[in-house]
Amino acid sequence: MNLVFLGPLGAGKGTQAQMLREREGIPQISTGDMLRQAMAEGTELGRKAKAYVDRGELVPDDVMIGLIEERLRQPDTRRGFVLDGFPRTLPQAHGLDRFLRAEGRTLDAVVYFQISDETIIRRLSGRRVCRKAAHIFHLDSHPPRVTGRCDFDGSELFQREDDKEDTVRHRLEVYHQQTEPLVEFYRSRGILEAIDAEADIDVVYERLRRILSARVESH
Ligand code: AMP
Repeated sequence: MNLVFLGPLGAGKGTQAQMLREREGIPQISTGDMLRQAMAEGTELGRKAKAYVDRGELVPDDVMIGLIEERLRQPDTRRGFVLDGFPRTLPQAHGLDRFLRAEGRTLDAVVYFQISDETIIRRLSGRRVCRKAAHIFHLDSHPPRVTGRCDFDGSELFQREDDKEDTVRHRLEVYHQQTEPLVEFYRSRGILEAIDAEADIDVVYERLRRILSARVESH
């Protein structure tokens, strides 16, 4: 299936896409991960993206559309894909449409992860990551045994620059302004499937599976 996961940061899109990849073998295409990797490697794309990512702003549309087209040209996406974090603006959605149409491909569904701003702020502002291997903890829901230290390797836990509360609030504003209009865009095409993303990871995954199998059966 060709899928888009739509929804704010911290809604669990990445977690669910990763589960679909592991269990169903559908490639997960996360533009956030692609950018973070490029930044870590110091490539030209990484250098271009860094200022935007650190401030919680969106990387320009032309850069993102070029990046996703290159990825979707790779043969592993022929059996299906999950776009996680793309499109994030109307021009990106139009760019994706044009590209898929030219290739004779279509989107099967856009899954919209619904969650309140309060839950997101709680989830992200409590997230702590270890320096050594990026193990993830949460001050409330998954605290480390020793305050400030990773359970696995003892390294220091820190807060990602873009998880700081002010940046999270800013990223949420950007989401509401620029990305949320995509909900209506895809709803009007009859391919939007809303999912309640407040629940635990396994509950959301079950809901997702049910939605996707109903889509497959109706085709
Ligand atoms: P994410 O991990 O999906 O939250 O992405 C992290 C950051 O990467 C975002 O805050 C943006 O700065 C940038 N980014 C990821 N995907 C896109 C996109 N489709 N368009 C513009 N910027 C993006």
